[in-house]
Amino acid sequence: MSDDIAPRTAALSHLRRSKLKKGDPVALPLTMASMFHLPGAPEGFAQYGRFSNGTWEAVEDMLAHLEDAPVLGFPSGMAAVAAAFFAVLKAGDKILLPSDGYYTTRVLSERFLTRLGVTYDLRPTATFLDGGFEGYRLVFIETPANPGLDLCDIEAVVDAAHAAGAIVVADNTTMTPLGQRPLDLGADIVVASDTKAPNGHSDVLFGHVASRDREIMAAVSDWRKLAGGIPGPFEAWQVHRGLETLDVRFQRMCDTAEFLAEKLGKRDDLTALRYPGLAGDPSHNLARAQMLRFGFLIGMTLENETKAEAFIDGCELLQPATSFGGVHSSAERRARWGDAVAPGFVRLSVGCEPAGQLWRAIETSLDAAKR
Ligand SMILES: *Cc1c(COP(=O)(O)O)cnc(C)c1O
Repeated sequence: MSDDIAPRTAALSHLRRSKLKKGDPVALPLTMASMFHLPGAPEGFAQYGRFSNGTWEAVEDMLAHLEDAPVLGFPSGMAAVAAAFFAVLKAGDKILLPSDGYYTTRVLSERFLTRLGVTYDLRPTATFLDGGFEGYRLVFIETPANPGLDLCDIEAVVDAAHAAGAIVVADNTTMTPLGQRPLDLGADIVVASDTKAPNGHSDVLFGHVASRDREIMAAVSDWRKLAGGIPGPFEAWQVHRGLETLDVRFQRMCDTAEFLAEKLGKRDDLTALRYPGLAGDPSHNLARAQMLRFGFLIGMTLENETKAEAFIDGCELLQPATSFGGVHSSAERRARWGDAVAPGFVRLSVGCEPAGQLWRAIETSLDAAKR
């Protein structure tokens, strides 16, 4: 499956080469600047640090190469989500959000969109097509949804939403453009948090918006420039560096997640297990059809809160932490944030540790938590 993406990831490491002059550094220089030397007519040159920055452009070039679409960088995933909303929505619009997706998108809509006259409805990802899309200006999907890992059929949602006159925004954070390609499946906009696997080292927040629609990207660009939610050059530099190893990290994380999910499926102490790559998962057939990999997130439910916490804290190769996609495996009990999941539900983010060692550590901690 992942072979399809190989030509794209191979070229990624050499994107800058064609732009280099003899004697230029091969590694990306960090441009820290609010001012640029600008006598006379300013058009066609770097003007001001809120408008453009060479380091952002380099990371946007990489992301654009991966998305096969123009990209704009943002200081976080939520800044990217907000930019997509503010670029396209107006008073009177109604939008549809997943009820089981990343909760901040719903809170943002409730706190700030409703009072500007944009209303929203919620619908579970697993039955997202039910009820159709009549009356919506924008349909927002997240598949696999974080944290429950239900899927929806991107192409089917796009077809039905477009027929109803809505645009489709896909939050592709859980998969990255290496694991799933919503724009190729017809989505109008991709938003993503590069805080997660794309940066991969748990030391920066970043996000991006990608779209092949020029009008949408012009509006997103104006939003960024006028509202001022711009990425920091150093953060962009870090993400650029992270993206250079995304392929090697992502493929290993997905390989290990597949291995661990099979092993976890054989245990009798989990009350539920979700991983799109498992043959018995309710989303498996859809996952095979629309994803390039099955991802690196596993949803595992232990009997209760106490056992789940004991498992996480007792595993020497799991970092107890919120967020995911780092080189180190991490886990957390999502009910502690009020997500609509069982008290013993643990979202496991598989990192880059050797798979056998990781399994032994997980097994040891699960055995201990059982007692
Ligand atoms: C983390 C996350 C976000 C928000 O990203 P930040 O970089 O934390 O702002 C948005 N969507 C999903 C699915 C996420 O997991």
